[in-house]
Amino acid sequence: MFQRVCLVHYHEIGLKGHNRASFEVRLLKNLELLLKGLPLVTLKRISGRICLYIKEGASYEAACDIADRAAGVPGVVRVSCGYKCPRDLDAFFEAAVCAVHDAGGFESFKVQARRNHTDFPIESMEINRLVGGHLCEVFPDKKVKMKDPDLNVAVEVVQSAAYVYARSIPGVGGLPVGSSGRVMCLLSSGIDSPVALWRLARRGASCVAVHFSGRPQTSSASEFLVRDIAQVLDRTGCISRVYIVPFGDCQREIAALVPPELRVIMYRRLMFKVAEALARKEKAKALVTGESLGQVASQTLDNIFATDEAVSLPVFRPLIGTDKQEIIREAQSLGTFDISSQDAPDCCTLFMPRNPETHAKLRFVLEAEAQLPLEEWVPALAAAAELCDYSSRR
Ligand code: ATP
Ligand code: MG
Repeated sequence: MFQRVCLVHYHEIGLKGHNRASFEVRLLKNLELLLKGLPLVTLKRISGRICLYIKEGASYEAACDIADRAAGVPGVVRVSCGYKCPRDLDAFFEAAVCAVHDAGGFESFKVQARRNHTDFPIESMEINRLVGGHLCEVFPDKKVKMKDPDLNVAVEVVQSAAYVYARSIPGVGGLPVGSSGRVMCLLSSGIDSPVALWRLARRGASCVAVHFSGRPQTSSASEFLVRDIAQVLDRTGCISRVYIVPFGDCQREIAALVPPELRVIMYRRLMFKVAEALARKEKAKALVTGESLGQVASQTLDNIFATDEAVSLPVFRPLIGTDKQEIIREAQSLGTFDISSQDAPDCCTLFMPRNPETHAKLRFVLEAEAQLPLEEWVPALAAAAELCDYSSRR
């Protein structure tokens, strides 16, 4: 029996010219960390792929589990389960039969060979013909189909070995986390912000989150939900740290000092300022929110304008043009939807006015804000933040 492997394919990384090597190393390190504890011997870069070597004796199902885990990691376009074998035609035959057996449940197939090194004497077309012919003998009831076959049997010949696989699963794509700098994400326990964070992580950003809790004016229920959400995001290495800021007392003071209709804007400007202070400490170069244009009162264009003015860092809103239904579908496939659907009072539900302003005028906002001792509050809130680290940070 040959060495069982999973081959990790990536696309975009391949387009990055001279940065390619550092992107590949980053993806390799991320995978190494996230697949810890699974039956793997080692992970290695082989021409244009990362090869995961599965422990001897591990089943096809165990290999599929590893493939599933790897497929959720940003930067991975596709994962294939198969075998590493010698560069020898008989070995290709045997490995192809094993790979096809593993894959099961198919009617048609085709063979697709690729030589990364033309020092192998048999051309790809000839490998296709010979391996295809052998499979037809072993599986006489299966048909060769060139267009849209059920199974693509791949034979990849590289410098020192060959890799043969039949079943592949799609990955999430994007870029490896850590290859695009660091951002500070405002993470509520709601549906939208985990999706916004995930989108940035999928583009290679290392994401630190900050959650504003209504504590001590509310319970810490929203904090538990945020920790559960962070655990889901941690499975694919998408979150490195969460700061929890007890925000309830400042909200109570804002509610007492500013006109009711401006409260929400004021809470949000203060959140942004504290997030910016933490971002500077973390060397994060942008804030990220889960806002979607017009979704709620605070997300009108006027209010977004009045909130952004509070900070100088760029604010990314990856969901600004996304419909709630689409966000919900994304949260479901991410695995955060059920957690986010649980009710928990957080600072958003605390001291809410009956009629929040939907078209805030910056002049009135700044006048009202002048009543608040922000130069004291912002550093005090940032200093009071409690933090929890996740695997990529540890
Ligand atoms: P979500 O479903 O993400 O909670 P939402 O539709 O409830 O979003 P808002 O409450 O207006 O919308 O919040 C908009 C964005 O502001 C959120 O997506 C998030 O980025 C940020 N935000 C809101 N509440 C908090 C909080 N308690 N802590 C940190 N960030 C928050
Ligand atoms: Mg919310």
